Amino acid sequence: MHIATVNPANGETVKTYHPMDEDELERRLQLAEATFRTYRTTAFEERSRLLHHAAEILDEDRDVIGKVITTEMGKPVAQARAEAAKCAKAMHWYADHAAGLLADEEPAASDVKDSGASRALVRYRPLGPVLAVMPWNFPLWQVVRFAAPALMAGNVGLLKHASNVPQTALYLEDLFHRAGFTEGCFQTLLIGSATVDDLLRDERIKAATLTGSEPAGRAVASTCGEMIKKTVLELGGSDPFVVMPSADLDRAAEVAVTARVQNAGQSCIAAKRFIVHTDVYDAFAERFVAGMRALKVGDPMDEDTDVGPLSSEQGRTDLEELVDDAVRAGATVLCGGERPDGPGWFYPPTVLAGIDREMRIHREEAFGPVATLYRADDLDEAVLIANDTPFGLSSNVWTRDEAEIDRFVRDLEAGGVYVNGMTASHPAFPFGGVKRSGYGRELSGHGIREFCNITTVWHG
Ligand code: NAP
Repeated sequence: MHIATVNPANGETVKTYHPMDEDELERRLQLAEATFRTYRTTAFEERSRLLHHAAEILDEDRDVIGKVITTEMGKPVAQARAEAAKCAKAMHWYADHAAGLLADEEPAASDVKDSGASRALVRYRPLGPVLAVMPWNFPLWQVVRFAAPALMAGNVGLLKHASNVPQTALYLEDLFHRAGFTEGCFQTLLIGSATVDDLLRDERIKAATLTGSEPAGRAVASTCGEMIKKTVLELGGSDPFVVMPSADLDRAAEVAVTARVQNAGQSCIAAKRFIVHTDVYDAFAERFVAGMRALKVGDPMDEDTDVGPLSSEQGRTDLEELVDDAVRAGATVLCGGERPDGPGWFYPPTVLAGIDREMRIHREEAFGPVATLYRADDLDEAVLIANDTPFGLSSNVWTRDEAEIDRFVRDLEAGGVYVNGMTASHPAFPFGGVKRSGYGRELSGHGIREFCNITTVWHG
């Protein structure tokens, strides 16, 4: 794949880049290693000052970087600006909280005594250069979600970003440098995915994090397994959105639309499968389809566009194939379902009903604005359908019944259960999945500790 900015709204190539050659990669690896030796000894106060500064610069750059993101991957520009703001917030959060999250831990005095120690503690020390392999769908957020905690923990970062967002990748490197981090603290490597394996085998890289598809995750995890290196994987999702009879249907349907189509539906934590109790199925479906039909699809640079193009021609073809497969097997199209004529990789908000287990869309991730509707006779069946997927990223449930909430929280196989709302990440809450959505967590204290050497210090 070429490293290039290709505008998804019209298919035009805006800018192409040569991948970095071996010499340049070697220079950057040496710099990362050398920088880590000193950066790891810096105080939290110093790291915090730099990260707050990076957040302030990013906030000021919102309009500029927002347009770059929209040009590179097609999300509506208002959503791109919001992404930059969210990143700035996460940076401030880690700058404020990292010292506390990584403070030395003291085991219980009785356990210290029992171990024969006069004193004992647990200290979180950094690991070294971490390689981050990242996707294009939230091209700032995915990276900041890794970089903010990694830098606060005293690690240094190397970014291999998706090949279609090189300008955003270079912006990020520049952002951290402008904020005052030394050059080797955060570097962007302009390389194709074929080079990742060699990097993972390099001794100087101590760990890796990947956000992206299952095949990419498997490739990175296999090599890191062979090299005995720590990994965190944030992979695909096909999150359920369950609606029970006691739900506020107007609100549920309104949120369902946003949960499905934000970022043109290209979000791992988008609600993708809508599982509705039979008593409210028709009423919910009517509201939901009306909401999907009312969305404005168009130029992502327009402030009032709700849904822009998909990020690539291949992405649209893949989505279309999932829809066509379902329709051939008997699914009903309640709205959308046909690509429009004209330039750009647009696909309309689409709702499919009558889904069965044999259809590809039941098991695979629909990475675009396509929702599937399921009818459930009761809570048990809703849970069964919700869990009948290889993925387990997050989940959404709509009910005002406390006993039902308890059952969903107990039984849904996912890294999150969002009750009467949609899944949205927040720096203070752990983020990640189970099953083939990956492993490990990002954000919160759990995220920052993933790439730490959790060290026992014992005094005789
Ligand atoms: P992708 O094709 O897996 O690409 C993600 C990154 O992995 C890119 O940098 C890509 O580089 C690289 N890559 C691809 N194949 C690789 C390989 N064999 N070895 C090493 N690196 C490789 O995914 P995508 O299409 O960009 O993103 C969509 C997927 O990401 C969806 O499944 C979505 O659900 C998932 N996602 C998950 C989360 C989460 O937090 N769980 C968040 C967002 C997205 P190139 O661009 O150079 O190919």
